[in-house]
Amino acid sequence: MNREEKVRTAAVILAAGSGRRMGGSIKKQYMQICGKPVIYYSLKAFQDSFVDEVVLVVSPGDVDFCQKEFVEKYHFDKVKSIIEGGKERYHSVAKGLNAVFCDYVFIHDGARPVITEEILDRAFACVREHGACVVGMPVKDTIKIADENGNIAATPNRNLLWMVQTPQVFAYPLIKKAYEELIMREQELTEKGMVITDDAMVVEALTGHSVRLTAGSYENIKITTPEDIQIAEKFLNNY
Ligand code: C5P
Repeated sequence: MNREEKVRTAAVILAAGSGRRMGGSIKKQYMQICGKPVIYYSLKAFQDSFVDEVVLVVSPGDVDFCQKEFVEKYHFDKVKSIIEGGKERYHSVAKGLNAVFCDYVFIHDGARPVITEEILDRAFACVREHGACVVGMPVKDTIKIADENGNIAATPNRNLLWMVQTPQVFAYPLIKKAYEELIMREQELTEKGMVITDDAMVVEALTGHSVRLTAGSYENIKITTPEDIQIAEKFLNNY
């Protein structure tokens, strides 16, 4: 690559979940926080950032709705395409990765509205150094591993535990290869009991590449259950 050539960055913003744990009829990514839909905040953060392009991944049947209600309404012109997601989060990510063109890709849960410019800057600096970076925060509580009967099976050392968030950011060739391998070996891996809940674990399991942790924030919560809406509202009011 020519030294002067710009490093291209893209974001895959995920909003194709069914929001089962939220209950109610309206999907959590479309619920209102401070007068705007949850998904607005992630789109806005990336729109205002250094990231060059955005691919938004939505539920089957929601493409036209999202195009009109979010992308056109708020003039999010970095959104290059809106595509339909898949059954599990990792299916949605795999589809999103096929739709971006970049050197580095930010994979972000659209259900995390309190994403800030500082977090994006930190994650980008980290991925440029390490090739794979996940934002998260050290846990505050003691975490237990339970057995099937609800008894405690183990107590991991709290000093080494982090809760991970998004964005999870990768050199594009690395994450693309990892997801291609995952989709190819999906049946074998899921039959072996692999439960895929984030992107770092795809890289960890399917490449030899280590993934670096960097600070997100304790406010960068994922809207999952109804009380999260009120908490996020408090945080967003501070900005
Ligand atoms: O289900 P979970 O809360 O872990 O979802 C995290 C993010 O992934 C959410 O933004 C959700 O909309 C998205 N997702 C998706 N496709 C799925 C499942 C979840 O884009 N099949």
